[in-house]
Amino acid sequence: MPLSHPAYQHHRGHHEVAINPVFTREPVRVPRNHLPPGELDPDIAYQLVHDELMLDGNARLNLATFVTTWMEPQATQLMTECFDKNMIDKDEYPRTAELELRCVRMLAQLWHAPPAPDATGCSTTGSSEACMLAGLALKRRWQYARKAASKPFDRPNLVMGINVQVCWEKFANYWDVEPRLIPMEGERFHLSPDQAVAHCDENTIGVVAVLGSTFDGSYEPVAEICAALDDLQANTGLDIPVHVDGASGAMIAPFCDPDLVWDFQLPRVSSINTSGHKYGLVYPGVGWVVWRDAAALPEDLVFRVNYLGGNMPTFALNFSRPGAQVVAQYYNFLRLGFEGYQRVQQSCRQVATQLAGKIGEFGPFRLLTRGDELPVFAFTLHEHISDYSVFDVSAALREHGWLVPAYAFPEHRTDLAVLRVVVRNGFTHDLADLLLADLRTELPRLTRQSTPQRGVEASSFSHGAASP
Ligand SMILES: *Cc1c(COP(=O)(O)O)cnc(C)c1O
Repeated sequence: MPLSHPAYQHHRGHHEVAINPVFTREPVRVPRNHLPPGELDPDIAYQLVHDELMLDGNARLNLATFVTTWMEPQATQLMTECFDKNMIDKDEYPRTAELELRCVRMLAQLWHAPPAPDATGCSTTGSSEACMLAGLALKRRWQYARKAASKPFDRPNLVMGINVQVCWEKFANYWDVEPRLIPMEGERFHLSPDQAVAHCDENTIGVVAVLGSTFDGSYEPVAEICAALDDLQANTGLDIPVHVDGASGAMIAPFCDPDLVWDFQLPRVSSINTSGHKYGLVYPGVGWVVWRDAAALPEDLVFRVNYLGGNMPTFALNFSRPGAQVVAQYYNFLRLGFEGYQRVQQSCRQVATQLAGKIGEFGPFRLLTRGDELPVFAFTLHEHISDYSVFDVSAALREHGWLVPAYAFPEHRTDLAVLRVVVRNGFTHDLADLLLADLRTELPRLTRQSTPQRGVEASSFSHGAASP
C-alpha cells in the first residue's frame, strides 16, 4: 500500500495524466499509476513532470521549513558535476571521501572536540540518520557497561523532552528503547535539568538535549542539564552521557553565541548531530554526527569498506547515497568560512528578532519566543481574542502565499496553539516587511469574524515533533 495522504487519493480516480495538446501532435496516453507500456519523447516527459510540479509551494515564502531552499549557482554546478557519485564508493571516489573527512574535522573543531589524532564522525542523509547512529552508540555503550557489571541490559530508556523531533521517537521505536518523554509544564516548553535527572535511572542510555526546539526555537539548557547529571553521578554513581541534537542550533550557536557553552567543552556531551541541509546551508539531504572521541563510538558498530585496497571505516544505515551534498557542504565551508557563516546566521537572527518584535507590538499576539536563540519564533493569540484562531491567521496568510504553520503544543499544554516563523538565509528584512503588511491587511477582516473558523483539526502541518 502506498503511504499517501488522503487529500491526494481522489487522483486515483483519474487513470491518465492529462496532456496539453500543444506538447504533441500524436495522441499519447500516459497512465497515472502504472508503468506506461511504451516510451515517451523526453521533451514531453520533461514538460509533463515539470508542469505537475508547478503547484508545489514557493520555497522562498515557506516560513515553515528549516531546510535550505537556495544555494549559489557555483554550488549548484558542483552538485550537478557530482550527481553520479556514490558516497559509499570510497575506492572509486577517494577525493569525495577526503572532502567528507575534512568536513568532519572542521565540525569537530567548531564544536570543541578534544584534540585527537583524528576526529570521529561521519556524514549522513540528515539529522534523523545522524540521531539513529548517535542513539545506537549510546545504547551499545550502556549495554557493554551493564554486561561488564553482570546486570540486566534488556530495558534501556532514553530521557528527553516531549518537544524532541520525531526522529527520536523513531529511534526508540525501531531500536526497542523506552522513550521517556517529559511533558511541558506551564510556560516551560522544553527539557529542564531537574526533570531530566528525575527521569534517569540505571537503565538510562542517555539524555537528549535539543539545541533548539522545533516547537519554539528555544535552546535547551545543555550546560545546566550536564551539571545536574554531574550531581546525579556524585550522589548515585550513575554516569549518564548527553547527546546534543543540534540539527539547527549546532550551526547557529557557534557563530551567534560564541560564549554559550553547549558542546564538547562539556565533558558529559558525548555526541552532537546537525543537519547540513538546515543552517549548514546545503540542499537536502546531508547531516553530520560527531563523537567526542573514538571511545564514545563502540568499535563493533563500525563496518569496513574497501578503500584503495585498504579499509575505510563506515557507520551508516544506508549503503549507497549521493555524494553531491557532501561536496556542496565542503564548498560552503570553504566559500563562507567562519566569518561568512557568522554573517549569514547573524543576519537571520536580526531579521527574526526584529520581525518577532513587530509582531509582538501588533496587539493580538503574544510572543512565546523572540527569535534570539534559533532564528525562529512562536507566537500565539492573547487570551481575550475569541473571534479568530491562530489557524485562521495561518489560512489568511496562506492566501497571500505565505506558509506560516499553526499547531497545538503537546502534553500538558495541548490547550496552547501557536504560529511559528522560521527565518532562513534569503528571508530578508524586505520580505519580513511584506509579511507584516499582509498580516496588517488581514487582521481587520479576522477581527470582524464572530467565532474562529478553524481549529486544530484544520492544521495539516507536521513539523516533525513527536506526538504523544
Ligand atoms: C530537523 C530536525 C531533526 C531531523 O533532521 P532531518 O535532517 O530533517 O532528518 C532532528 N532534530 C531536530 C531538533 C530537528 O530540528
